[in-house]
Amino acid sequence: MKKTAFKKVYQILWEKYGECACPLIHHSPFQLLAAVMLSAQCRDDRVNMVTPELFRRWPTPAEMALADPEEVAQVIRTLGLFAAKSRNLVACARVLVQDFGGEVPQTMADLTTLPGIGRKSANVVLGNAFGLPGFPVDTHVNRVLNRLGLVQESSPEKIERIVNEATDPAIWSNFSHLLILHGRDICHARKPECEVCPLAMLCRMNKKY
Ligand code: SF4
Repeated sequence: MKKTAFKKVYQILWEKYGECACPLIHHSPFQLLAAVMLSAQCRDDRVNMVTPELFRRWPTPAEMALADPEEVAQVIRTLGLFAAKSRNLVACARVLVQDFGGEVPQTMADLTTLPGIGRKSANVVLGNAFGLPGFPVDTHVNRVLNRLGLVQESSPEKIERIVNEATDPAIWSNFSHLLILHGRDICHARKPECEVCPLAMLCRMNKKY
């Protein structure tokens, strides 16, 4: 039952939005990793405003590993938590150089050893940099799946596990993008637009149906 419900939701959202590209501008796995790190509690468009200069000055882990965190902080100072993020960026680059030959690793276990990288960020990198299965659970994904009644969990890890068990790994990355788009576009946190929602017939929160 649950697998069928997930499949239907995916199909409907796919018909509306299709295959989605990662909105964070990047030209390598390292640059995506860095952009994801910067996007914590910050909108993607704000991140995209600072990363061209960041990546012009420190495009690779080897270069970022040698950067002064204070200088990095100056470049990303318009973002929230910029001081901690700049420290993490440089520390992360140093670990990549020391432990991973200057490359971004391709497993959840390795990615989550990096400073500033949790499961959500690791899943973004797996799915968007490497085309590997990864289902990032952010606040939109959490809210939409709970409203639909497909999960009744607040823990991102538990939600990720439920989705992993109920869906094909090939769709995980795009499914997360679709739910984020739907959450931003229609299923807003405060006032969801249920009257124009293509998922309304399936939604537990939409009491009219
Ligand atoms: S019907 Fe309303 S609450 Fe349900 S998914 Fe659509 S917008 Fe969100």
